[in-house]
Amino acid sequence: MIVLEHQVPLESLNTFHIPAQAAHFFSLQDLSQLPELSRIPEKKRVLGGGSNILLTGDVEGLLIHNQLKGIRRLGEDDDFVWLEVAAGEQWHGFVVQTIEWGLGGVENLALIPGSVGAAPIQNIGAYGVEVKDVIHSVTAWHWDAGTYLTFANADCAFDYRESVFKRTWKDQLLITSVTFRLAKRPEVKTSYGDIQQYLRQCGVDQPDPRAVAEAVIHIRRQKLPDPANIGNAGSFFKNPTISLDAFEALKKELGSMPGYNIGPNMVKIPAAWLIEQSGWKGYRKGDAGVHDRQALVLVNYGQATGWELATLAARIEQSVQERYNIALEREVNIW
Ligand code: FAD
Ligand code: NAP
Repeated sequence: MIVLEHQVPLESLNTFHIPAQAAHFFSLQDLSQLPELSRIPEKKRVLGGGSNILLTGDVEGLLIHNQLKGIRRLGEDDDFVWLEVAAGEQWHGFVVQTIEWGLGGVENLALIPGSVGAAPIQNIGAYGVEVKDVIHSVTAWHWDAGTYLTFANADCAFDYRESVFKRTWKDQLLITSVTFRLAKRPEVKTSYGDIQQYLRQCGVDQPDPRAVAEAVIHIRRQKLPDPANIGNAGSFFKNPTISLDAFEALKKELGSMPGYNIGPNMVKIPAAWLIEQSGWKGYRKGDAGVHDRQALVLVNYGQATGWELATLAARIEQSVQERYNIALEREVNIW
């Protein structure tokens, strides 16, 4: 029989360190507990590492903390290995394990906080790799139906920081495991300038996944605030995309503007640049602020509330809209 906890403090379970409470709470350790949880009528939410949420109040209903663990090798051929990974495994721990096994595919995603089960939800990405590139399938428990669903990669509607789990199936499922297809003869991706520069400095001409992961870890430690020291949830906003015509017009007006072509007629603009140019980098009001080295990261210097951070986000959105006529979209889930 499962035993729920009540009025559970969440400050240490979200990387913004917001001191909210969960009305009801359960630490999920075993798949056999799911049918009984399904029968509890409370509205259910799933918590992984709490690194992509902003709590603006207490969490009503039942919060289920995913602690499902285990990695299983399902099979292999000459080129690939298929691994089924329980959703409560820590993402970075999994990345390190794949490198130990000599497998390639997730090295660019090293040091991303959170759980394996959350990775497909926003199709985590960094340094030119998205997790969709290596996901074979996702298995989830459907709360109302009380049954498992399996989504092949093509069913997940993966897009830039998007998936079917973030939209159509939001709060209806608990992802129980993710199956990855990883390469035995990896081809690494080093297109991002910071990685190239680091590898060059280290004199590495032919990088393997370990060298790329080490570069990513080094760069991230320098650039990003560690949530253990300063509360944050990584990038608060997505990078907006605009039409090539709109981009050319803005570039003409401003003199220069960074952008990356992501299709025949679409350009991705770094949101960090828009926020910095709008004067927000290093801004602080009370304990809510914009990080001074990475303008895409909102930070809690200590006692900021979720509302203060959400209000700051809204002010940033408004000023970017007014200055560039570009709408910023939030990446972090507001609870
Ligand atoms: P949580 O914050 O616990 O949950 C996020 C959402 O997913 C919630 O809606 C939750 O209900 C849902 N959810 C979680 N687990 C499950 C499950 N098993 N089943 C169903 N729903 C679930 N993201 C990137 O994409 N790229 C980066 O480079 C990156 N860098 C970051 C750096 C820092 C310093 C921080 C703090 C965050 C960063 N992030 C990045 C964001 C974040 O780490 C990822 O989105 C991560 O996948 C969130 O995992 P989590 O377990 O913490 O999810
Ligand atoms: P960066 O390397 O300084 O680049 C700034 C922005 O320009 C990034 O957002 C990136 O878009 C884009 N970019 C840079 N080089 C590119 C290239 N060669 N091709 C296409 N786009 C390019 O970025 P950063 O802030 O230090 O972050 C490094 C990587 O980690 C990025 O991929 C970023 O998304 C990821 N990251 C994500 C989070 C999060 O919470 N989501 C937090 C920290 C870092 P993309 O963002 O689309 O890659």
